[in-house]
Amino acid sequence: MKCLSYIIRHKWYVIVANYKYGLGLTFWRVLKHDMSKFTFKEYIPYRNKFFKGYSDPRYIESWLHHKNHNEHHPAYWCDLNVKDGELNVELRDMSYTAIREMICDWIAMCKEFTKSWPTENKWDWYYKLDGGFEKKTKVMMSEKSIERLEGILVSIGLTGKEKQLKKL
Ligand SMILES: [Zn+2]
Repeated sequence: MKCLSYIIRHKWYVIVANYKYGLGLTFWRVLKHDMSKFTFKEYIPYRNKFFKGYSDPRYIESWLHHKNHNEHHPAYWCDLNVKDGELNVELRDMSYTAIREMICDWIAMCKEFTKSWPTENKWDWYYKLDGGFEKKTKVMMSEKSIERLEGILVSIGLTGKEKQLKKL
């Protein structure tokens, strides 16, 4: 039950984030955020790993299913192929819509884990989680996607004004 209520709460926070921060996604788009988590394939291993505390060997398949069905994950846009006999990762440019949904997702997680909505000066979750969630995420994004991401974050008043000023 804990897992189910977490997913529903998360989806609610995503809907609120879209309106609160003016991300401009359609209601349908935010409503179907993470809907695939309700599939048997994703739900059971996800619940076991995060809510029952044991590492379910099916979790990797659950994650692959999730990221392959949800554009808001940068991994959705990473193509694996072979170049000159070597494994090659090609970073495709994320669409604006996917990036805006990803931001809603992060805002929702910030609300869940820090109990407050992020503001310009209080967006630590994004910069500090896991020793730098921001950096880790950007490794999987093309330059154009990063540019788009940063542009949107600035436009909704959530990032870097201070940092950018310091750089100048
Ligand atoms: Zn997701």
